[in-house]
Amino acid sequence: MKYYSTNGQAPLADLQKAVVKGLAEDRGLYMPERINKLPKAFFDDIQDMKFQDIAYNVASAFFGEDVDLDSLQDLVYDTLQFDCPVVKVKDNIYSLELFHGPTLAFKDVGARFMARLLQYFIRGKVCGDSVATDETVNVLVATSGDTGSAVANGFLGVDGIHVYVLYPKGKVSPIQECQFTTLGQNITAVEVDGVFDDCQALVKSAFVDADLNKHMKLTSANSINVARFLPQAFYYFNAYARMKQLNLADELVMCVPSGNFGNICAALFGHEMGLPVKRFIAANNANDVFYNFLQTGKYEPKPTIQTLANAMDVGDPSNFARIYDLYGKSHERISSLISGATYSDEQIRQTMRQCYEETGYILDPHGACGYQALADGLQPGEVGVFCETAHPAKFKEKVDDILGIDVEIPERLAAFMRGEKQSVRMSKEFGDFKAYLMQQ
Ligand SMILES: *Cc1c(COP(=O)(O)O)cnc(C)c1O
Repeated sequence: MKYYSTNGQAPLADLQKAVVKGLAEDRGLYMPERINKLPKAFFDDIQDMKFQDIAYNVASAFFGEDVDLDSLQDLVYDTLQFDCPVVKVKDNIYSLELFHGPTLAFKDVGARFMARLLQYFIRGKVCGDSVATDETVNVLVATSGDTGSAVANGFLGVDGIHVYVLYPKGKVSPIQECQFTTLGQNITAVEVDGVFDDCQALVKSAFVDADLNKHMKLTSANSINVARFLPQAFYYFNAYARMKQLNLADELVMCVPSGNFGNICAALFGHEMGLPVKRFIAANNANDVFYNFLQTGKYEPKPTIQTLANAMDVGDPSNFARIYDLYGKSHERISSLISGATYSDEQIRQTMRQCYEETGYILDPHGACGYQALADGLQPGEVGVFCETAHPAKFKEKVDDILGIDVEIPERLAAFMRGEKQSVRMSKEFGDFKAYLMQQ
């Protein structure tokens, strides 16, 4: 399968290049040249299949031409060692819980899948090319909290790859920090004396520095990487199967709390593969750029607004380019399939309280946007599934404060919190970071 750039100015890439490079030469996002449809028989029996087998079928359609099927099956089973249950919350509203992975957030699946696919390509090269032998590939990632933990845990213990997580000192929550500073092995946490933008600037400078690139092989694990976003399609096929099992899949509405729009983009790829979902809702916090696009047909990026649902604080979502391209740049096609919703922090608080009082279900601030969008937007006869994108304990301070409860911390998270923090202190000067990497 070849991948083209949404900017149309870069040469076609094969999967390996798209995964290793992440972004195309013209700064566009890679798109697969074709989206293979899954056969009718697959959907006829899907309710009897388990998550891992459903995912393997979907993965074969995307990656089967470029990865041998035994390896791909290993890769999918290694990635999906947990379940994504669908839980009834109220009436015709169901929660698709995407938070049962290692760091309790949905980004775990994409991160792990990408780590294993990158490793597959490195190993492949080791076999085929004696020059490239055992050179380590170094992944640099800047994080404001959530991405760092998902990437670090996804790549943990994957040999041949070393990960440097750069994060702003004192600017991530203690729960987030412990998830990438206590791991050891092939994960190094770099604590930068600065803000998130300084971390990102260090990473960007490193990628274009000639000496460094001669000294070591560098790559990114950015969320726009095809290997990180496409596997999220697995979730939606599984949700459909579980709803079909309940005989509730005839008029299914999928609602995705969205920030950078990678997760919903994967859902839309699933729809193009034949997934019988009636329509989609993109639920936003106060960052309403996509919502406004749906109303007006104009895409106008804005500065980011900080909100309670901070993993969705994005003022210029990267994956808009993919969605726009997927539907031939047609506002009409996009707005007839996807509707939008936008909620203020006050509305998010109110939703969390009301849902908890009525049903006992604890929403996190991101999932709350999804739940409310269904409560506001479902038509008679429709059944809605929203993604609960993070475990409420990940945002414990906020959830406890809003609901007046003491959210239980799952053992997996508690184990991180008992670990010993290890980090490398770094100034925000590129010269210091470069000197450090040159010694590695
Ligand atoms: C990343 C994230 C989102 C937003 O997902 P996108 O793919 O960027 O739209 C929503 N909720 C949580 C908890 C996240 O970590």
